[in-house]
Amino acid sequence: MRDKTQLTRLETETVNAAKTRKPLYAARQKIFPKRASGNFRRFKWLVMTITLGIYYLTAWLHWDRGPFAPDQAVLLDLTNRRFYFFFIEIWPQEFFYVAGLLVMAGVGLFLITSAVGRAWCGYACPQTVWVDLFLVVERAIEGDRNARMKLDAGPWTARKLMLRVSKHAIWLVIGAATGGAWIFYFADAPTLVGELFTGTAAPVAYITIAVLTATTYTFGGLMREQVCTYMCPWPRIQAAMLDENSLTVTYNDWRGEPRSRHAKKVQASGQSVGDCVDCNACVAVCPMGIDIRDGQQLECITCALCIDACDGVMDKLGKERGLISYATLSDYNANMMLATAGGSSSINPSLVRTAVGTFCDQVAHFHIRKIFRPRTYVYMGLWSLIGLGLLYSLLTRDRLELNVLHDRNPQFVTLSDGSIRNGYSVKLLNMIPEPRTIVVTMQGLEGADMVVVGDDIPAGRSFAIPVEPDRLKTLKVFVRQPADQIHAPAQTFKFRVEDKASFESNEYAATFNAPEAAK
Ligand code: SF4
Ligand code: SF4
Repeated sequence: MRDKTQLTRLETETVNAAKTRKPLYAARQKIFPKRASGNFRRFKWLVMTITLGIYYLTAWLHWDRGPFAPDQAVLLDLTNRRFYFFFIEIWPQEFFYVAGLLVMAGVGLFLITSAVGRAWCGYACPQTVWVDLFLVVERAIEGDRNARMKLDAGPWTARKLMLRVSKHAIWLVIGAATGGAWIFYFADAPTLVGELFTGTAAPVAYITIAVLTATTYTFGGLMREQVCTYMCPWPRIQAAMLDENSLTVTYNDWRGEPRSRHAKKVQASGQSVGDCVDCNACVAVCPMGIDIRDGQQLECITCALCIDACDGVMDKLGKERGLISYATLSDYNANMMLATAGGSSSINPSLVRTAVGTFCDQVAHFHIRKIFRPRTYVYMGLWSLIGLGLLYSLLTRDRLELNVLHDRNPQFVTLSDGSIRNGYSVKLLNMIPEPRTIVVTMQGLEGADMVVVGDDIPAGRSFAIPVEPDRLKTLKVFVRQPADQIHAPAQTFKFRVEDKASFESNEYAATFNAPEAAK
């Protein structure tokens, strides 16, 4: 009989056994991207110039708002709690405009991604733009790919030291300029620049510059592609935005494979050969250090520099451009089916070409109408709706606000002549950077009049009062009604404010309280 205490040993292996455990940290492999040239590179230069230009120069633009408001076009005035954006002035209670813009930016990102893949990452993301800028400096000082690799592998000499010190010094200057440009959005830029250099700026300004210098230098100069691969969540999220009709940078192996460096020899031997000559030009220019021929990868930011590199190679070989191209998965799959005879064989590029070497008519090419599909319509509709809603709200928003608070204690006071008096805090909010004279009027509440406490305005049903630009004015107002006019313990009436110059007005429904016996 089998001894029940004897157990069978299961053969298993832990994934992190002490004997075989490998460190989770992998040392960075250095990347030396080669300078690319071509249409996409030119487009990237353009985007880089525009985005950096906007970032560094916008704080220096002027916008005349008159003598009572700052003349900086874009200013986040934290002290006075205002955000100025050209002709728009946003008060703290209107922050939903900023939130709305952020939502629009998010939906816009979904729209762009669903249409043209990670275009944001490849062209306009600050990480991409600053890495590009840092690479410009690196190439200018150390040379292109081969020179940089040689320098990196070589021993430390006076020349190497000088080149490295120069490069890092310029990177730090760019980092400081980046941090500096940021704080100019929070104060009057010309004044702040003077204060910075004379050491009289607020400590927070120096701290912000120091932090942004360090992060720009580290992310743009030292970490580069690691930020995109390991730190940024977008590569993980974007997969949900893509479908088979989204454009992504694609290696068209249906025409490129089998690749060979000796195409003529292979062809002469009667074997089929693809367009890829395995020159690695696409890998050498990749700022992420990947090979797009391995298929879609999380690391690929779709900067399209490999397209430029490969197009250059195809031009030299006298072949059609587009071995690497922006393509949709549906087109790619269709062409793959064509090149593999419906999936029954390995890739045979001759199946996608005619006898004279041109592409067959069945080869699928991208058409612009693929961008316009239900998913992009939904994103576009949502984006437009939010935009129109914000615009409507912006164009129709009140610039003269009125708020009234009834005194809680006492609710009313009986005066010696028997009339009843209620007290109110009337808050007039002038939301434009100009002084205004506001007319406050009572509507309803028969026989009543009002006085402003601490002001020598005569009692009446209406008075005019000046309000400073961009200010809240709080008035203590007593409303009095003769006893014989009171017909209910709680009567509603309105405070109305009006700016006679701009015809802007606003109203607030208030309550007048009286004792039960007074009615
Ligand atoms: S594979 Fe091509 S598109 Fe992707 S990151 Fe590299 S160069 Fe850019
Ligand atoms: S650049 Fe073009 S031809 Fe050269 S290896 Fe890359 S895909 Fe092949």
